[in-house]
Amino acid sequence: MDTTAKHNTGRNELPADRVLATLNEDGSRHWINPRCSPGRFLAARRWTAYALIAIFGVLPWIQINGKPAILLDIAARRFTFFGVTFFPTDTLPLALLILAIFLTVFLVTAIAGRVWCGWACPQTVYMEFLYRPIERLIDGAPGSRRSQTRSGPRTVLKYILFLLCSCYLAHTFLAYFVGVDQLWHWIGSSPAAHPTAFIVMAATTALMMFDFAFFREQTCLVACPYGRLQSVMLDKHSMIVTYDRARGEPRGKKQLQHSDVALRVLPGAAADAPARSTSGDCIDCRMCVTTCPTGIDIRDGLQMECIGCAQCIDACDTVMDKLHRPRGLVRYSSRAVMEGQAKHLIRPRTVLYPIIIAGLVAALAFVISSRSTGEAAVLPRQGAPFYTLPTGEVANQVRLRLVNRTDEPSTFTITLSDDAASSGQRLIADTTSIDIPAGQTINHGLILAAPASLFSSRGRFDTTVTITDSRGFSTSLPFRMLGPAHREPTKEQTP
Ligand code: SF4
Ligand code: SF4
Repeated sequence: MDTTAKHNTGRNELPADRVLATLNEDGSRHWINPRCSPGRFLAARRWTAYALIAIFGVLPWIQINGKPAILLDIAARRFTFFGVTFFPTDTLPLALLILAIFLTVFLVTAIAGRVWCGWACPQTVYMEFLYRPIERLIDGAPGSRRSQTRSGPRTVLKYILFLLCSCYLAHTFLAYFVGVDQLWHWIGSSPAAHPTAFIVMAATTALMMFDFAFFREQTCLVACPYGRLQSVMLDKHSMIVTYDRARGEPRGKKQLQHSDVALRVLPGAAADAPARSTSGDCIDCRMCVTTCPTGIDIRDGLQMECIGCAQCIDACDTVMDKLHRPRGLVRYSSRAVMEGQAKHLIRPRTVLYPIIIAGLVAALAFVISSRSTGEAAVLPRQGAPFYTLPTGEVANQVRLRLVNRTDEPSTFTITLSDDAASSGQRLIADTTSIDIPAGQTINHGLILAAPASLFSSRGRFDTTVTITDSRGFSTSLPFRMLGPAHREPTKEQTP
C-alpha cells in the first residue's frame, strides 16, 4: 500500500494560513519528516544523547550500598534513589524531594528555556538519535525519491528495527520498577510463568512503538504539559531559540539578483545559481522550517511547539556560512536582548528559586539523616472504650501501628515499664514480639489491663507503652486508658 498521500515530501511545506503545523486542511495528520541539519549544536546534542542513553541503560545495573541506584518498587511501595530508600510513610522527605525537583525545573526553564525538551527529554533523545536515524538510514533523506515510498521490504525492515528498539527500551524501563535480577529471571523463563509481567512488558513495548513510530512530535504538542506551562515559567530574559527579525527582514528570494555570492542553499539550486543582495539576511530558503521536528517556523516568534532543539540554528548557520554572512540569524538569545535590552541573569526568580531549592535540599538531608529505623503509634480500637475483666481489672483494646523503615526484616517488642508492671498493669496479647518484613507496616491488636483503683474520678488513667526493635529503634508512647470513675471510699465505707 502506498501511503505517500498522507506523508509530506520532507519539506514541511505549509500554507501561510495554516493554524497547526501538524494538521492538513482536511483535518488529517500532516506528517513531519524533518531534514537533518548537521552543525555544532547537533553534534553536541548527539553526544549528550548518547551519554544519556548509556546512563539510562546502565543505571539499573549499578548498586549503591547494596541497593540498585534507582528502583521504583511499586508493588512493595518502596522507592530507592542512590542508596536512600523511601517508604509510603516518608511523606515529608518525598514531598521535599518532589518540590525540589519541580523548582529545579522552574529554575532551569527560567534561565535556559526548554533546554530539557531539546537536549535531555527521553522523547527527544530516542526520537532524534535512535528512531529517526534508523528511519533516515532505511528511507533515505527526507524529500529523496526513496523516502516517498513507504511500503515494501524496506518498510518492514524499518518497523522490525523499531520493534527491537522498543522491546529493549521497554525491558530497560521495566528494570527500574522490578530490578535487573527479577527482569533476567523473567526473560529466562516462559511468559506463562509470569503472565502479568509479560503483559506489562508487551504493553510497554507497544506503547513505545506507538509513540516513536506513529505519535512522535504529537507527544510534545498535545500530551506533554510542560510545553503548555512554559509561558508561566519563562520571562523575557530566559534563553530561547530566536530569529533576529531586525537582521533578517525584509526576507525573500526575489532579491536573489544582484550579488557576488554564489547561492547553493536553495533546494535544487545549481552551482552557478543566482546571487543575492538584500537588506535582510533571511533569504527565505525555509531550511530552518524543513529541519524543525515540530514543523514550525521560528521566524514567527516563540511558539508553544518549539522544543528548543536548535536544529533551526544549525540549518541557518549553514546557510549563513554559504552566504559568507555572520552566523546567528537564528540563535540562542532572549526576548529582552532581541528587543535591545541588557542581558539580566540575576532576576528575582533566578535568585529566589535557588534559595528555596537550597532550603529544600538542606531540609531533605536533615530529614533523611535523622530518620529513625522504625515508627510506632498506639491508638484505641473501635467499639466499647473499656470493659471489666473477671479479675476486676479494667481492660482497653488498643491497636498498634508499627512500621519497619529499613531494608531488612526487624522484630518489634512491646513492653510496659517496670513501674507500670509493679502497679499492676499488664499487656494481654498473643505475642508481644512481632516480626515485620522490610519496609512494611503492620497493625497489631492487644489489650491493656490495669487495676480499677488506678483510674481517676473522671475515669482516666495515663500509661506508657514502650516499643523497641532489633535495629535500635525505641520509643515510649503515652496512652490514656478509659475506665470506670474511681471514687474514694466514704467514712462509712472505711473499716
Ligand atoms: S534558514 Fe535562515 S535564511 Fe533560511 S529561511 Fe530560515 S532564517 Fe531565513
Ligand atoms: S523552532 Fe527550532 S528550536 Fe524550535 S523546535 Fe523547531 S527546530 Fe527546534
